[in-house]
Amino acid sequence: MKISHIEHLGIAVKSLDEAIPFWENLLGTKCYNIEEVESQKVKTAFLKVGQTKIELLEATSEDSAIAKFIEKKGEGIQHIAFAVEGIENALSECEENGVKLIDKAPRPGAEGLSIAFLHPKSTLGVLTELCEDKNK
Ligand code: ZN
Repeated sequence: MKISHIEHLGIAVKSLDEAIPFWENLLGTKCYNIEEVESQKVKTAFLKVGQTKIELLEATSEDSAIAKFIEKKGEGIQHIAFAVEGIENALSECEENGVKLIDKAPRPGAEGLSIAFLHPKSTLGVLTELCEDKNK
């Protein structure tokens, strides 16, 4: 699998209104995009550090994965996302290596990316996202 960099870290937050100013102050950089991803029942806000983004995630529904995560573990890092070249091939490679996939095929994510999640049960507890910018 060809990984170029860590695309973003996904951080589950209770409130974007609180989290955005906090992270803007801490990192000294402005949030440049807020976007709702209906399929994932989240509202996302992005900040950039170098070429890696911080993705703040607020649940828009009680049955959102983010709401469940916060209920179980509290706010904090929820997933790590790697930028790959050829996401379909990367997914088949993972599957061949016995990694369970949450998404068998890529789907649209925030920022126009194609994304797919690997199951944390087969990645030592780390919810892992693969993503590819197909508009590049
Ligand atoms: Zn993500």
